[in-house]
Amino acid sequence: MRRVAVITGGTRGIGWACAQAFARGGWTALLLWCSRAKTARERVEALRAEGLDAEAFRCDVSDAAEVARVFGEIEARWRRVDALVNCAGIAHIALFQDTDEDAWRRVMGVNLDGAYRCARAVLPGMIRRKSGSIIQIGSMWGEVGASCEVAYSAAKAGLIGLTKALAKEVGPSGVRVNCVSPGVIDTEMNAELTPETLRELAEETPLGRIGKPEDVARTVLFLAEEDSAFITGQVIGVSGGLVV
Ligand code: NDP
Repeated sequence: MRRVAVITGGTRGIGWACAQAFARGGWTALLLWCSRAKTARERVEALRAEGLDAEAFRCDVSDAAEVARVFGEIEARWRRVDALVNCAGIAHIALFQDTDEDAWRRVMGVNLDGAYRCARAVLPGMIRRKSGSIIQIGSMWGEVGASCEVAYSAAKAGLIGLTKALAKEVGPSGVRVNCVSPGVIDTEMNAELTPETLRELAEETPLGRIGKPEDVARTVLFLAEEDSAFITGQVIGVSGGLVV
């Protein structure tokens, strides 16, 4: 039977690269999206045109009821989720003093609460089957902190705590939980960075370039596959060696 991967934020950037990696690796890829219906339709059509198995669902991960409904539908139709990739994320660049309660809640609601909700939705099935892999897309800022991105850094640091604690709790049930911590990756999230800033970041990176979504996706797929069967509770940097 084909294994099933659910990828939140699966129709753009890093999530889309993950969706392609899973589908091309022989998995059924279920792409969750939030705001761009047309993109979602085109992505699924593109995968199916390659003869791959994919479907897309709208799922705003900051909405608990929507997460419950969508994962309920997935469970009813596929009866299994073998891998969950919590990739949905939003950035928020502002001074801490200018980060009001609404902005703080928005950033937490997508980046951290969303991962909590989706993990809770898939865990009963994974524990019942005694197998499964949950992969969070964190960020190097969650490890080292970024000035003017305190809410984002805190949310991503929260994902690391979630990963380490949950890995201990569900490891005995055969479920693995890991966090991939990307450096600077070329996606729309970094669209505001000028070519000059991107060049500087590439120069600061020991491997001499900024990352591509595919660099992250390969690591995510590895963490879902049997090759990583003895890896859990880890934070794995995909940053070209960038240390800030
Ligand atoms: P993009 O901005 O390209 O994509 C963001 C994705 O998140 C989109 O698929 C979007 O869906 C989805 N999303 C946003 N809000 C919600 C929501 N409320 N519910 C569900 N999905 C939502 O960003 P990246 O691909 O760069 O980022 C992917 C992940 O990687 C994020 O968690 C980000 O924090 C992390 N990351 C990125 C880095 C980078 O340098 N790019 C570095 C480190 C970490 P839709 O298009 O439908 O709105």
